[in-house]
Amino acid sequence: MKDRIYLSKTSSITSIDNNFIEGESISRFEKSLEVYFENKKHIVALNSGTSAIHLALILSGVTEGDEVLCQSFTFVATANPILYQKANPIFIDSELDTQNMCPYYLEEAIKSRIEAGKKPKAIILVHLYGMPAKIDEIASIAKKYDIILIEDAAEALGSHYKEQKCGTFGNFGILSFNNNKIITTFGGGALICNTLKEKDKAVFLATQSKDKAVHYQHSEIGFNYRMSPFLAEIGNEQLSKLEEKIQKHRDNNLFYQTLFKEIKGVTLLKEFNLDWFSNHWLTCIFIDNNIANFTSDDLRIELEKDNIEARPQWKPMHLQPLFKDSIYFGGNNAEVLFKKGLCLPSGSCLSREEKERIKKSILKVIPQK
Ligand SMILES: *Cc1c(COP(=O)(O)O)cnc(C)c1O
Repeated sequence: MKDRIYLSKTSSITSIDNNFIEGESISRFEKSLEVYFENKKHIVALNSGTSAIHLALILSGVTEGDEVLCQSFTFVATANPILYQKANPIFIDSELDTQNMCPYYLEEAIKSRIEAGKKPKAIILVHLYGMPAKIDEIASIAKKYDIILIEDAAEALGSHYKEQKCGTFGNFGILSFNNNKIITTFGGGALICNTLKEKDKAVFLATQSKDKAVHYQHSEIGFNYRMSPFLAEIGNEQLSKLEEKIQKHRDNNLFYQTLFKEIKGVTLLKEFNLDWFSNHWLTCIFIDNNIANFTSDDLRIELEKDNIEARPQWKPMHLQPLFKDSIYFGGNNAEVLFKKGLCLPSGSCLSREEKERIKKSILKVIPQK
């Protein structure tokens, strides 16, 4: 048959053949990710991790007025999609071993909301900075109360717990390929599903919910959330370098471990025991200024003077003006981590010379013996 003549086809601005890009690229990237997840999962490539969380909530049946349990200590993208659905977030504190959702407060929250006649619809757990959460405990709580578990693994591609990859424990998992993440498509994300049926539904929703018809027919709300095929090509290329990138992030972590080894009052976020494997997306330190006689701000400002970026850890969601009316279960762990924690330069392109600069700068605030 002759080549098809299309209704509206824009000539490509690059030298790349349109047909090559359009037809295969997305499914090729999805296949590569499925292979990465040992062919046990169905992957949907999307335009962001945030869209993936939004679709996970829709597929979980979360609608207006529902409650969703969500880790408070995280980036706002974890929680925003709850608002897109006009649902209510219930925020949960972190524990200090992994800095992720505290299983104790999670169960307290579930019991309390059930007592109030409002059983939560879903749990959104985060593997922050690449560190796997206490997933065994949380998954068993989700199972015990029959609540859907969504894993935000935006920062944790390549991390695993007891040899099982982050993003594969729950009913849904999500990944991000934003510029700052472990691999990038310069904006992108993925939804990890357990069944092909869920994947098909997610693709349907992500492409404006087009019913089967010759004309455009719609019976439910849809979104423009699909990944650009062009970016899927980049994703494929990036995924082939994942192991190499993880190794670099872990080397960076080792560099900081060595640097702070003898410094009293400074602790690193570490793998809790051998069950934990973190991609160490970002290395974070915790500075107890009563012992260390400098604060995380002192160190951040010193680094800034040398044109080195460091940033406080996430400001918890329950302390954000946006969520001032939301319910919160927990103590002050997340708040203390925000006040005393600091994220240090951890990218996979960090050179030896740059590490030397960082070391010199850090040593300026540390009292020499
Ligand atoms: C980056 C990130 C997201 C969102 O990903 P985008 O692709 O930027 O939409 C969600 N959760 C966490 C924890 C993140 O770090």
